[in-house]
Amino acid sequence: MNRLYNFCAGPAALPEAVLLQAQNEFLDWQQKGLSVMEMSHRSGEFVGIAEAAEADLRDIMGISDDYAVLFLQGGASQQFSAVPLNLLNGKSRANYVNTGQWSKKAIKEAGRYCDVNVVASSEDDNFSSIPAFDSWNIDKDAAYLHFTPNETIGGVEFFWTPEVSMPVVADMSSTILSRPIEVDKFGVIYAGAQKNIGPSGLTIVIVRKDLLGNASDMTPSMLNYQVHADAGSMSNTPPAYGWYMAGLVFKWIKQIGGLTAIAEMNQRKASKLYEFIDTNDFYANPVEPVSRSSMNVPFMLADDALDKLFLKQSEEAGLLNLKGHRSVGGMRASIYNAVSEAAVDALVAFMADFAKQNG
Ligand SMILES: *Cc1c(COP(=O)(O)O)cnc(C)c1O
Repeated sequence: MNRLYNFCAGPAALPEAVLLQAQNEFLDWQQKGLSVMEMSHRSGEFVGIAEAAEADLRDIMGISDDYAVLFLQGGASQQFSAVPLNLLNGKSRANYVNTGQWSKKAIKEAGRYCDVNVVASSEDDNFSSIPAFDSWNIDKDAAYLHFTPNETIGGVEFFWTPEVSMPVVADMSSTILSRPIEVDKFGVIYAGAQKNIGPSGLTIVIVRKDLLGNASDMTPSMLNYQVHADAGSMSNTPPAYGWYMAGLVFKWIKQIGGLTAIAEMNQRKASKLYEFIDTNDFYANPVEPVSRSSMNVPFMLADDALDKLFLKQSEEAGLLNLKGHRSVGGMRASIYNAVSEAAVDALVAFMADFAKQNG
């Protein structure tokens, strides 16, 4: 076995301890004679797994009983429609912040259901910054405010939460569980699992209970938060194996000290990489320093003709998936929770060496 350092943006690296535990109990979960993948989602065994995962997530993130936690299929992208369908509640307008490619997708999909008020956009700035809050043009009568706390493609992250007089909705796909957050500041938090939570196919939605029950009549039942909340996410077959894997990841997070410890690790990893990029003329990161993502670090080489060689040699050095998103170019290192500091050290050492050879 030869596990390499994986910097993929998603599906992303998982903690080795979690993969090993899943491997150990893959064929025969806790002497029950079957795999979790083969269990009825209504069995006592699986319901136990599911409830423990939810309890651990609530514990890690500090989610109060005022919120429902849903374990759904459909990806974060499906939430781009579920959010307006559940939250418009008779209103025809919603506020959206445009800070990158994922914001844009959410805005486009919401536009099918309502009038989107783009309160602020950094598109003119090539999505390399976050517009100052006091410049936002918020429609106070709109149903909610949606933003993307971490833009996975552009590598731009909010280290603050907008405080407004309406529900705040956040696509936390690539930042959830990377550091503590104040859940009470949000109406809805959603995240595809494949960055910091577990395998793809699972989507977590954390929704304040007073926002349930307002879905429009034409909302498909499977997109209706109330339907899933009432059924404990088992109105239909949930993404059972992903739910189990997420539960193992939550236990792993608790074991290593929770989100405070995780945040410290992530901070160290990101600082190392950004500091190296900033002090080496061969590399550049375009994002304003205060908004640099601690999860996704895009970087450009001094000469993009060298991109192919960089990718070839980094892969040969055991550093996988460093190619930047096609809309941005260059490179991107995603350094989620399960990417170790040793992986970042290996990347920095490779980058230093590559710059010396080619600079
Ligand atoms: C990955 C990602 C998505 C898309 O998730 P899917 O599960 O593939 O739909 C949406 N938003 C953000 C911020 C992401 O990082």
